Amino acid sequence: MRIQAICIGTELLTGHTVNTNLALMAEALDGCGYTVACEVCIPDELGVIRDTVRAGLAQADVVVTVGGLGPTCDDLTRPAVAEVLDAPLHFDAAIYRHIEEYLRRRNVPLRCEALHVQAQVPERATAIVNRNGTAPGLWCPSADGGHVVVMLPGPPREFGPMFLDDVLPRLRALAPPDVARRGLRVVGVPESIVEERVDRALAGVSGLTKAYCARPLSVDVRLSASPDRAAALDAALEALRAEFGPAALDAGEASVVASIGRRLRGRGWRLATAESCTGGGIAEAITAEAGSSEFFAGGIVCYANDWKTAQLGVRPQTLAAHGAVSPETAREMLDGLMGRTGVEAAIAVTGIAGPGGATPEKPVGLVYMAIGVRDRREVHCRQFPGNRGTVRDRAVATSLILLRNALQESDGAEPAAATPAG
Ligand code: ATP
Ligand code: MG
Repeated sequence: MRIQAICIGTELLTGHTVNTNLALMAEALDGCGYTVACEVCIPDELGVIRDTVRAGLAQADVVVTVGGLGPTCDDLTRPAVAEVLDAPLHFDAAIYRHIEEYLRRRNVPLRCEALHVQAQVPERATAIVNRNGTAPGLWCPSADGGHVVVMLPGPPREFGPMFLDDVLPRLRALAPPDVARRGLRVVGVPESIVEERVDRALAGVSGLTKAYCARPLSVDVRLSASPDRAAALDAALEALRAEFGPAALDAGEASVVASIGRRLRGRGWRLATAESCTGGGIAEAITAEAGSSEFFAGGIVCYANDWKTAQLGVRPQTLAAHGAVSPETAREMLDGLMGRTGVEAAIAVTGIAGPGGATPEKPVGLVYMAIGVRDRREVHCRQFPGNRGTVRDRAVATSLILLRNALQESDGAEPAAATPAG
């Protein structure tokens, strides 16, 4: 099934709105074995919408338009598509009543002309009820039945549920998946090495497409093949699991933080952080994961030396003798944090994010990361390249990977190398 997306909205082309609807749609389709063959982003202009939908129908089985179904003068998708499909618009009383009812329940003063426009439906079209707004989605088959144009509203809170709950099931009923996919998330191995090792592990396996995506905390390896080759894909995935061992996240672990969380929860352990140069970035990354309250106790941001002493018990002599950015300070931050809070796992980080603060012995990018899992305490040193933002991001990523490794080693497994992938 060839699917083309047409995202309509001048604001998308001026950078005022980020095209999150496309991302949501593409990811959901991908997860079901379909692909967006092509996406076009166009302004709110009747002629452009018409031409683009016409061109889309010449190439694709399904054209999904996003946006331009509102009541204002710049909302032109409905008439443009009606013209291309040669499906005149008519007033649909049931939709009108639904919109009226929707607005009445929310105490919105009724604007009749707006309601009328949004109750216009092209001939042959089926309306898709909008549970989060007024404009219904419109599923419009072409006259010969060979193509479909699906018109969906632009506001993300309307688009998202409508696409996932109503449109996706209809598309799945229309045609079987085009591809089968399997994915593996590899942590702490640079992208080029991942590719080398994948090629080695899958030498002799043909008919699979490999793709890589480097993310801050991992490299995603994606394998795809025609749906009848599912068994070959499973075998390939097993081969990759064997190749990468503990560097691959387990099935069911969507992220490094999820992997950390699973290990901590399994033992009833809690985690805390003490951060200097990352300024709370590690705590932010942990708490971005839903459910982190089950294992994350909290974090302390200790930027100034006197706070390192007051909050964590770092000795002034240590700071004077070795400086705030030193393995000794990182270790005392960790020990102080774990001693004072009683957590079983902890991360403490101190470093020079730059651009100022460097000395010949301590250049920008020098970061010490202390990792504690119960009595096992270790301090890692890294010299990260890049500017302030990159150094901080890498310190966050690396310390999380190091903690995952430490937890994994305490399970008895071999550690993965701790290098951020991106
Ligand atoms: P409305 O009834 O609000 O006018 P509509 O269907 O006409 O809905 P638009 O006018 O195109 O949709 O957009 C409405 C809102 O949704 C705007 O805030 C717009 O920035 C946002 N939006 C539109 N398209 C997208 C998109 N592809 N991704 C994210 N946001 C979008
Ligand atoms: Mg609009």
